[in-house]
Amino acid sequence: EQAERAKLLEGYEMAAKLYQYILHNTEQGKAAKAYLRDRGMNDKLIETFGLGYAPARWDTLTNLLDKKQYFLPLMEQGGLLSAKHDGNGYVDKFRDRIMFPIYDWKGQVIAFGGRAMGNVQPKYLNSPESMLFHKSRTLYNLHLARPQIRKTQEIVLFEGYMDVIRAWEAGIKNGVATMGTALTSEQAESIRRLAERVTVVYDGDQAGQTAAYKSIPLLENAGCQVRIAMLPDALDPDEYIAKYGSERFVREVIETAVPSIKYKLLYFRNNYRLQEDGEKLRYIKQALKLIAGLSSPIEREHYLRELSSEFRYSLEALQQNLNEIRLQTE
Ligand code: ATP
Ligand code: MN
Ligand code: MN
Ligand code: MN
Repeated sequence: EQAERAKLLEGYEMAAKLYQYILHNTEQGKAAKAYLRDRGMNDKLIETFGLGYAPARWDTLTNLLDKKQYFLPLMEQGGLLSAKHDGNGYVDKFRDRIMFPIYDWKGQVIAFGGRAMGNVQPKYLNSPESMLFHKSRTLYNLHLARPQIRKTQEIVLFEGYMDVIRAWEAGIKNGVATMGTALTSEQAESIRRLAERVTVVYDGDQAGQTAAYKSIPLLENAGCQVRIAMLPDALDPDEYIAKYGSERFVREVIETAVPSIKYKLLYFRNNYRLQEDGEKLRYIKQALKLIAGLSSPIEREHYLRELSSEFRYSLEALQQNLNEIRLQTE
């Protein structure tokens, strides 16, 4: 219902303001501020992304919402509060966490991601689905990134909040994130509505690379041109920038992102022991299958030539094999 949505939006707005106030102006906020500093966040970034701190108490937000006469069952249903176990009243859902507001494309707060500062599980606590927040349709930071996305017709896709924020500081103002879950077709469609080209910059670990691989058909089916960036040593973008700096990140990660076909060719290589002839031939066969799927003859020839020069098979033989594969799949 419209009135409930409006009320819940107000509740989220109020919560975001409260968490920001606590981070900047209270004794309890100091450790959180120090944590953020330690992670490379200056005041300007903290303000731009609306970061805050939910203190280690049960009643901070609950009391404020109650005092302002919000209907607490609605705030609980909307994910800001939790019902007490004995069914008698409400408590704050987020406690002792760094708060990342999640905005819709208009810039209204519709959810939070809350990060624990120590080794508390879960590392991130996200707001549940609600009448405002549909995870499968939301992209973190779309509201800030939109102008640059429109201008460049390009979007940079990350996994996490910190990656988006650190990349923003590195000058990448068209970055958004999927918030750790697999990219959905709805997200891919909304990406395509804004931009023609996507660069996927997922974490360098196995999980991130598999997720990047899986994002390719979704994005391509939506009509995007896809490039994939690769990070060394299982680093994520935030860690890479902390270690090597912004310039190197842009130059060696973003600018060296490869077209999806190239990424697939590299991705599958790890499955084969290429020193062995049999394995090498199996890899070539798989590579040819991938190349056969390209619709552009020029692109097919380009990757065929790469294969030919790297593995020292004649272009003619590869071409012949490719033709056979293309006939079989027609
Ligand atoms: P940090 O740098 O703070 O450790 P990260 O972004 O590198 O965070 P990852 O483990 O790579 O964290 O996860 C990527 C994203 O997935 C997070 O930014 C967050 O949005 C989401 N996420 C991670 N862990 C959880 C969790 N336990 N519950 C819900 N969402 C999560
Ligand atoms: Mn990860
Ligand atoms: Mn990560
Ligand atoms: Mn990280």
